[in-house]
Amino acid sequence: MDFDLKIKNNNLTIYCSNRLENFSNEFINYYNENIEKIKEELSIYQETKIIVALTDDEEKAGFVYEKSSFSGFFNDTGAFAYINLNGKKTKEYMFKGLMHELTHHFYKYYVYGKEKERITWVDEGLAQFFSGQKDELKDDKTYKTFLEENLEYITDIDLNKLNHNDRSFGNNNGYNLSYMAVRYLYETHNHKEFIIIIKNKEKLLELGSTILGQIKEIMDSNKTI
Ligand SMILES: [Zn+2]
Repeated sequence: MDFDLKIKNNNLTIYCSNRLENFSNEFINYYNENIEKIKEELSIYQETKIIVALTDDEEKAGFVYEKSSFSGFFNDTGAFAYINLNGKKTKEYMFKGLMHELTHHFYKYYVYGKEKERITWVDEGLAQFFSGQKDELKDDKTYKTFLEENLEYITDIDLNKLNHNDRSFGNNNGYNLSYMAVRYLYETHNHKEFIIIIKNKEKLLELGSTILGQIKEIMDSNKTI
């Protein structure tokens, strides 16, 4: 794909059209403000070079989820996204969407291992948790309500069964459930243990089939006290 501009800032390079120049420069600031924290949470201490390619041309993008104003995916060098500045989504929403994709990149290539089979709930849970996409749930009271609402309608307790290939992940509230699962893991372990777990495929698969049950049990026992 042809891009008008190449903007380089330290270890981040952005390819984009002239129309996305301002957006890209603002994203660079956002990235610089947030990236160290994400890397620290994932225990990544080495230098990381990232390439982000952005297009506002729906046809060239070749993929746009429904009529959204932001669609993105990650790859082995960083992320690629379709950005519609005239759409309904705010810039902050799109910045967080890009950080979500980059969290996938960091997790796969620097933490989990690129050869290993992806576990969707872990990957999506981490991406939402560390990108700041669900920061409105940081408050304990808001989060408790969120937990109650989402635990009430679980059809299957096994998170490992949800994946993107057959759309079962999106269709069964996979995003919210995986966020809850990863946040629970994070909050019930110290950081060192957390990192060991998110690298361990067997342990994660074991957790995938039990973790929602554990969260449900804790919620239920709190209710009866
Ligand atoms: Zn994702």
